[in-house]
Amino acid sequence: MDTIVTGKTKLYAVIGDPISHSFSPEIHNRIFKELETDGMYISLRISPDELKNAIPFLRDNFQGFNVTIPHKEAIMPLLDELDDRARIYGAVNTVKVEGGKLKGYNTDGFGFMKSLEDLQLKVKNKNSLILGAGGAARVIAYELIVNGSNVTLANRSEDKALKLKKDLEGTTGGNLKVVKLEDIMGDYDYIINTTPVGMSATSDLMPIGENILKNAKVVYDLIYNPSQTKLLKTANQYNATVINGFSMLFFQAVKAQEIWFNNSINRTVTSTVLAALTDEEKSI
Ligand code: NAP
Repeated sequence: MDTIVTGKTKLYAVIGDPISHSFSPEIHNRIFKELETDGMYISLRISPDELKNAIPFLRDNFQGFNVTIPHKEAIMPLLDELDDRARIYGAVNTVKVEGGKLKGYNTDGFGFMKSLEDLQLKVKNKNSLILGAGGAARVIAYELIVNGSNVTLANRSEDKALKLKKDLEGTTGGNLKVVKLEDIMGDYDYIINTTPVGMSATSDLMPIGENILKNAKVVYDLIYNPSQTKLLKTANQYNATVINGFSMLFFQAVKAQEIWFNNSINRTVTSTVLAALTDEEKSI
């Protein structure tokens, strides 16, 4: 059924700056279509200077919206309520508008864990190495620790990794190791790249040496453009399960819709939409 937009169509958006490259409208509109939801999802470029003044417009015209760079932290004090994950991660990527109030959520961690669950991969008691210590590393390390994985952080600037370790030990009650990027040794079940190394200008580079990949079971690169970074191509040669960042992006979007509609989306729908998007993603 083709959706006709009417005055009653519910509106959703992603806000950011820049925003034209965003994959979110396509993901959300495809899910709407599959579920025959009378909804439309658009991208809105809102600059940092405009964010505060845009809030009443978003509240009055949208049922919910996603938030991306550079607003994920800046929007927090402008909201009426935050859920636990948004508070713990210190960033919001999803807002639900209800009764004239704005509640902020963060679905990135759910997206990451769901992308593993979708492939029936378990993290409990596994050794995980996270490359990077920024916002994405914080989310992923938190989820891995609370799900029972032994986590090691390796970052270019060691002080930033040590600060993240301290924060995460406070929020999870668990503990984690820190190593310098150049000092990584040993075998890891999971290696997760959250650095931008491997994107466009660095597409011929890997964030770590090939020797560390030899015994990895799963190598996950948060980058999805290109769909196969040098890291993933090399890990594939060593027979690791390789995953790019597209499924995390997809499942964080699924969770956002579940929050907006207070409903769960079944696996038949997610598999159908993900398969269609993955075919397209291979060609970007
Ligand atoms: P961020 O907060 O800026 O952190 C980036 C991290 O990468 C920092 O720890 C930084 O190290 C490190 N880094 C940057 N350039 C490097 C280099 N040339 N060599 C080694 N390390 C380098 O960014 P973020 O928000 O965590 O995002 C990280 C990546 O994940 C981005 O590529 C983003 O697009 C992607 N991402 C994907 C998804 C998804 O759904 N697929 C979701 C979130 C993020 P220093 O501390 O030394 O600067």
